[in-house]
Amino acid sequence: MRRLGSVALLVLACSGCATVGPVEDIQPGERPSLETDEAGLWMYMDRMETALATSGRVVTDPALNAYVRDIVCRLSPDYCRDIRIYIVRTPHFNATMAPNGFMQVWTGLMLRATNEAQLAYVIGHEIGHFQRRHSIQRWRDARNKTDFAAVFQVAAAAAGAGYAGSLASLAAIASILSFSRDQEREADDVGFTTMANAGYDPEQAPRIWEALLEERDASDKPEQVVFFATHPSTEERIGTLREQAQALIAKGAPRDAGAEKYKRIVGPFRDEWLRDEFRKREYAETEVVMNRLLAEERQNGDVLFMKGEFYRIRDESGDEDRAIEAYKAALLGDGAPPETHRSLGLVFWDAGRNDEARASFAEYLRAAPDASDRKMVEAYVKELETPQ
Ligand SMILES: [Zn+2]
Repeated sequence: MRRLGSVALLVLACSGCATVGPVEDIQPGERPSLETDEAGLWMYMDRMETALATSGRVVTDPALNAYVRDIVCRLSPDYCRDIRIYIVRTPHFNATMAPNGFMQVWTGLMLRATNEAQLAYVIGHEIGHFQRRHSIQRWRDARNKTDFAAVFQVAAAAAGAGYAGSLASLAAIASILSFSRDQEREADDVGFTTMANAGYDPEQAPRIWEALLEERDASDKPEQVVFFATHPSTEERIGTLREQAQALIAKGAPRDAGAEKYKRIVGPFRDEWLRDEFRKREYAETEVVMNRLLAEERQNGDVLFMKGEFYRIRDESGDEDRAIEAYKAALLGDGAPPETHRSLGLVFWDAGRNDEARASFAEYLRAAPDASDRKMVEAYVKELETPQ
């Protein structure tokens, strides 16, 4: 029912357009026949996929890729062979789905998800776009509105050599793959149903949007946070998903969040992805991301170390003290890396607290005797020992 309703809306929204109408779900293994416009669209997406695959921007770690692939197959055994996942290293919250089965999951999204169920919900949403063939509906709509030439040019440029993998080309692909609000609502619905049917905790679906909302509220450039400009309002989708989740939980739905497994597999990449965030210099948002990770793992020495790094790099008024506090907390927590001592030494040194700086550098050399920067840190200690 809901599906028919949204198709009707789509047609109404395009009154005066000639050929926009309902399309059937794609069948597992189906490819469009060659003479159709859909086959042409797939051909462009095939080129973009090749360009992205060779861009050097895709995270190739086998364990991480196998993990995300398993989530796709758990969510949708029927479509699992039709969907190819690319984990793209870029520090923004996004995922995209192309009609030919090429799905991008950006590392900024994986950093922000705090468990497997949240990621599964977003992947389920993207599978919804594929299954319901939203791209071809959108494509026909664009052509009828004479945007066709513009869309075509962006597609050709994004697929062109030397352009792939840049943020601009990723954004171009994302814009071609932008969907109408009704399609987004439909994909939300498919995503939610799919993740809940696979046994994931339904309450985690709204959580990932709540994270986005929190970042947007903290940001001084909120329009940049919401990459999905045509999505329904974040408040609306959170409200809808919360209601749906409560209804299922009341009926005794399974509540698998997969938090431990997610941390085990994604954890090793987190520092690298956080440093990508720092380089954006959008500190208000990144602070929200940091605090979100810490709320999950208060004693995690590594996350606390990265919190210290965040303040040390941001370097606003009061950040020296905040960094020192975070590093000290890291050393009291579990698994702080030896670099915590080195960073602590650097902040003390900047603050003119030379004795503490020297002690921290010495501690670093004890904790990491084979460090590649040993000579440099020994030189720091020497400099600090020299009477000023
Ligand atoms: Zn979407």
